[in-house]
Amino acid sequence: MITLKGIKKIYANGEIQVAALRGVDLQVDEGEFVAIMGPSGSGKSTMMNILGCLDRPTEGSYVLDGIDVSRASSDELSVVRNTKIGFVFQGFNLLARTTAVENVELPMLYAGVPAKERRERALAALESVGLGARVYHRPKELSGGQQQRVAVARALVNRPAIILADEPTGNLDTKSSIEVMAIFQRLHQNGNTIALVTHEPDIAEHTKRKIFFRDGAVESDEKIEIQRIAD
Ligand code: ADP
Ligand code: ADP
Repeated sequence: MITLKGIKKIYANGEIQVAALRGVDLQVDEGEFVAIMGPSGSGKSTMMNILGCLDRPTEGSYVLDGIDVSRASSDELSVVRNTKIGFVFQGFNLLARTTAVENVELPMLYAGVPAKERRERALAALESVGLGARVYHRPKELSGGQQQRVAVARALVNRPAIILADEPTGNLDTKSSIEVMAIFQRLHQNGNTIALVTHEPDIAEHTKRKIFFRDGAVESDEKIEIQRIAD
């Protein structure tokens, strides 16, 4: 699903150069559930920005779902962002004056899905995150945990190749964090590919692979063996 080779990112502010990523090689297969961890300044946000096609590496190649995005134009990148990637942010990033269902419809609007299908799929996505009874509420009328579940519904509704979540539980209390992680786990069980950044070891425990960054490089990469249950 994702292949990164020799990824470097150098930020240049006038005379000063900061090497945020110093040569990262990484493979994430379809259906993996990955936590990206590491101290502040280790390159996690830079990595997420590159994975999300919000930013391009200074060097190296990035292939996402068969597309070499490190060579894509800005227009091509924006198409990839809108069709291949579902984003979940720490601060939810919902449109304030817009209902839950309209927020979830938004990525499908960009993807050109017809109105009737948009509504049906948005309602189904909200149902799947346990918000079937809140679809016409606006963000202010929802708790933090509910808002983040709307954001998760929005992230998954276009059936993206990967869901990227940047500290998705950072603004949530323990109970809501566990609810949101339970939803990610279910999405993972249904075959979705998910990568999330977290500082919290307890949150990372819900995932199946922990990649630790330090000083712009991968320090360790621990996969938890998946127990296959015979079907
Ligand atoms: P993390 O998310 O792990 O805290 P970041 O990816 O934000 O790490 O940052 C990695 C390094 O790159 C840090 O030294 C940070 O200060 C630097 N950095 C990040 N973004 C920029 C930028 N836009 N311009 C200059 N330096 C940056
Ligand atoms: P977040 O984890 O929410 O991305 P950051 O502090 O890592 O927060 O970054 C916030 C914004 O500031 C990002 O756009 C990042 O690229 C930029 N940034 C981070 N560090 C620096 C820096 N040293 N110089 C300039 N911009 C930076």
